[in-house]
Amino acid sequence: MRDRYYSILGNKCADCGQEYFPPLSVCRKCHSTNLRDKQMPRNGTLLSYTMQKESLPGFEDQEPMMFGLVRLDNGVKIVAQLVDVSYESLERGTNLRAVFRRIRSNGESGQIFYGYKFAPSRKITGASE
Ligand SMILES: [Zn+2]
Repeated sequence: MRDRYYSILGNKCADCGQEYFPPLSVCRKCHSTNLRDKQMPRNGTLLSYTMQKESLPGFEDQEPMMFGLVRLDNGVKIVAQLVDVSYESLERGTNLRAVFRRIRSNGESGQIFYGYKFAPSRKITGASE
């Protein structure tokens, strides 16, 4: 897999240094419009989490889905699906890292969408899904 698919692309204010994900066109802190693309760090910490038991169309094979609020190493908070972990073993403060996974597949077209999810960083995952 080419590395760009792993990217969590946000941006950074060139004037005050604040980083954002998703990227903003105007800095919330200093109102500058001078923002540049910036890769977000792949490591973060779990702040809170939840489980979604009801399936969404196209996601039936992934239920129950777990979602977490993750604070990345640069302080940016993002919501992401959690994988490679049981709900029972999750706890606040768990160290996480971004992994590249199948998000969903469209059964009719056969199209598959990929993107990032978060897994515990202490576990080495070799899954190629
Ligand atoms: Zn700024």
